[in-house]
Amino acid sequence: MPKMLKILHEPDPFLRQTMKPVQDPKDPKIKKLIEDMVFTMRKAHGIGLAATQVGFDGRVIVIETKDGAMSFINPEIIKKSDELEAGEEGCLSVPGQYGSVKRHARVSVQAQDTEGNSDVYDAQGLFARVFQHEIDHLNGIVFIDKVESFSTEDLAGEGQLI
Ligand code: ZN
Repeated sequence: MPKMLKILHEPDPFLRQTMKPVQDPKDPKIKKLIEDMVFTMRKAHGIGLAATQVGFDGRVIVIETKDGAMSFINPEIIKKSDELEAGEEGCLSVPGQYGSVKRHARVSVQAQDTEGNSDVYDAQGLFARVFQHEIDHLNGIVFIDKVESFSTEDLAGEGQLI
């Protein structure tokens, strides 16, 4: 059974660390971590979660997509649009704070799955935004570092925490 993981909040110093690459994506421990992360993300009403946020030192993220929850191991942005888009963000690790962040409108992300296969994902819109937010987490970057104007309300009214 998947279990609820504890989500770290700012200013926990672990959120500022760079996560290590996953050496063996087929390790059953990684599969279990992903199950727990998806469970935790959904319970917390998030649409994205990085291993950093649950205190696991490994490059793993999960994202809720229109096709269900997807997991990405060792994700890397290999292509990004010059075009930037501003959008409202909130974060499960920064409760009650929202703000507008500029992100690349489109990104291509290379990542591995739990079989160890590598694939490339082309993302735009919210999916591209969540990818960038979560990969930032793996590098010790929290969205508040990039916010142009803060708000204590979810101005976009989307209630999407990532
Ligand atoms: Zn976040």
